[in-house]
Amino acid sequence: MSSPIEQERKNRWIDVHAHVLPMRVIEALRRNPKPYGVAVEGGEGKFVFTFGSRRINRPTFANLVDEELFFEQQASRVAEGLDREVVSIWSEIPGYELPPDQGAAWCRLFNEELSRFISDHPKPLPLVGLGLAPLQSGERGARELEHAVQNCGLKGILITANPPEVPLDGEDLEPFWSCAEELGATLFVHPAVGCVPGLDQPYYLGNVVGVPTETTFTAARMVASGLLDRHPRLNVLLAHGGGFLPYQIGRLGYLVNKDRPKGAFGFRCQRPATEYLRMFYYDTLLYDSDNLRRLAQQVGSSQLLAGSDYPFPTYDDQLLETIQGAGLSRRETDDILFWNAVRLLGLQA
Ligand SMILES: [Zn+2]
Repeated sequence: MSSPIEQERKNRWIDVHAHVLPMRVIEALRRNPKPYGVAVEGGEGKFVFTFGSRRINRPTFANLVDEELFFEQQASRVAEGLDREVVSIWSEIPGYELPPDQGAAWCRLFNEELSRFISDHPKPLPLVGLGLAPLQSGERGARELEHAVQNCGLKGILITANPPEVPLDGEDLEPFWSCAEELGATLFVHPAVGCVPGLDQPYYLGNVVGVPTETTFTAARMVASGLLDRHPRLNVLLAHGGGFLPYQIGRLGYLVNKDRPKGAFGFRCQRPATEYLRMFYYDTLLYDSDNLRRLAQQVGSSQLLAGSDYPFPTYDDQLLETIQGAGLSRRETDDILFWNAVRLLGLQA
């Protein structure tokens, strides 16, 4: 029989997928945009960013930048047992299109302000941060990742999936991947809207189809390029249950096998494709208990972590019901809700 303390622990859960954009970041950019090459316009929660000459037309929204609103909703979630929240940036603004110097300055500003935001707000629950790194340069990316983890106390970074400016399997990024392995940092691969053009009209399918497609493409490319063979200790957390990759892994494996004698398709991966699935971590954002159970059976429940996408419109407020309704054992469910996050992020239980 478990002790009362163990029982209490079992009812706690950690949300690894939430977003915040501290207002101090916006204020710093408004005061002095030059060192970063990032301009901000707008107000009342709706801010529009321009990185170099690229304007991000989708504005922010109040819950993302308004601290009071952000923490108001947190209080009710704490009552449900939410123990810690892992916060990362809005994935549309990583700034990969900036020159490396400005990109590094932008990432450092965000990482330092996120760190301050976390220490300024120990209540209603402790926050854990994932920062940013300038992936337009492998060397600079490694340096900023190191600063984020060692000096800012962050646990890793968010990587925007399938960024048009940066091939994530490019040779230039090798120092970054090596550094991430060395630090044991968590790399949260999170899509932005927009890689598959024309999906948002007349229906909102950019979010339904385009977003998981971007994650699928990035994860498949990490496999196909041999990146995970070169860096098998990377801790890559895929958003939204890994997109479509788990469901389509047979297709990738089939083509990789067919390609083996000649190599005409360019695959550089060495292992059976299904083995790579177990090298990734996945959040639980599938909104469907049956699919979550299948994913757990396919990749192992040790690879799944609870994630809600708070405070976006896709925020899963039925997350606990979805996980607890997946028909997994009590131990597997507890791992997904709490212990896997403790292990991956090196948190104190
Ligand atoms: Zn998200």
